[in-house]
Amino acid sequence: MTTPALPAYPAPLAPWASDPRRTRGRRVPEPPAPPRNEHQRDRDRIVHSTAFRRLVYKTQVFINHEGDLFRTRLTHSLEVAQLGRSAARALQLNEDLVEAIALAHDLGHTPFGHAGQDALHECMREHGGFEHNLQSLRVVDELEARYPAFDGLNLSFETREGILKHCSARNAARLVQAEPEGPAQRFVDGTQPSLEAQLVNLADAMAYNAHDIDDGVRSGLLSMAQLDTVPLFAQWKQQVLDEYPALAGQPGRRLLFETLRRMLSAQVADLIEATRGALHEHGPADADAARRAPPLVRFSPALQAQITELQRFLFSALYRHPQVVQTTALARTALVELFKAYRADPAAMPADFASAPDGARAVADYIAGMTDRYALREHHRLTGRRVFGD
Ligand code: MG
Repeated sequence: MTTPALPAYPAPLAPWASDPRRTRGRRVPEPPAPPRNEHQRDRDRIVHSTAFRRLVYKTQVFINHEGDLFRTRLTHSLEVAQLGRSAARALQLNEDLVEAIALAHDLGHTPFGHAGQDALHECMREHGGFEHNLQSLRVVDELEARYPAFDGLNLSFETREGILKHCSARNAARLVQAEPEGPAQRFVDGTQPSLEAQLVNLADAMAYNAHDIDDGVRSGLLSMAQLDTVPLFAQWKQQVLDEYPALAGQPGRRLLFETLRRMLSAQVADLIEATRGALHEHGPADADAARRAPPLVRFSPALQAQITELQRFLFSALYRHPQVVQTTALARTALVELFKAYRADPAAMPADFASAPDGARAVADYIAGMTDRYALREHHRLTGRRVFGD
């Protein structure tokens, strides 16, 4: 068997890719910084930010104190960047932009995963609500305080566009009023983000579907037998067992790892092929034409159906597992109590948050920036109680 020749590296950008030389620029204009292009520069700013370092102690499904081996938002973001870059290079998209968006996409997440986001949204109901995508943009636009000339990281339009993955109509209208033609404009116009942003969205889903299976089995909340009912997983597990029958009775998780490895590779390969087909069919002239087309980065319909089925399984078997529900309910209560404590006594927060003009928003910003363990410590300091009794 001959191996296909590897493409040139770096591969030239496709006409529909986001060319860093044609960026829509930054809110505060800055001179270029060669040899780095503008999206490499965004990536570097993100990696050096405070919010990025905190991702190591923030979780998605499991709470950080439950074990050291579970995914955190940092390792999740690295996995999203890895999957996204692999596909971006094959599709001749802008790999630097994909990496920047992937590393920043979860910066606005609260401690305690989805439970924390729901709790903060509830606390902020009377004050404009709380959305983690919007918060990620807020972190890079306003909350990072590292530069003398501006608030935030002053990232390029394309990176900010990718970070604002979802946005309610109400928030979009508010953002567009403050910044016409900004990253929220597309929610008003009903257009798509860049192909690089579309790719990160799908890489995000591929990453968490795979690592939630891995963490679910590791935690004992999911069994391999349960996973046999999920075709996307079961078909690759069978292929591995056909090749390595001895794995069936072995301790350890080689069978799981090899199954997940093949499942991920198959999804990336499918995405590349389906996306090539869609690009060929629509042939957008440039990156802006791709924004006006339907979503072009996609899986084949058959694989998309299997992924949807896997996500339905994870929802009921893992995210709604009684043990997960119980832990997240405790975390939720802790965040609500923390919010009330800071509202009653803003001076319990650092001075820059305590003196902010919008009190409720400042409390939400402060809590959203916390790691799981810091939130638990603060909760104990202010209420005298330990959430998990440890
Ligand atoms: Mg994510």
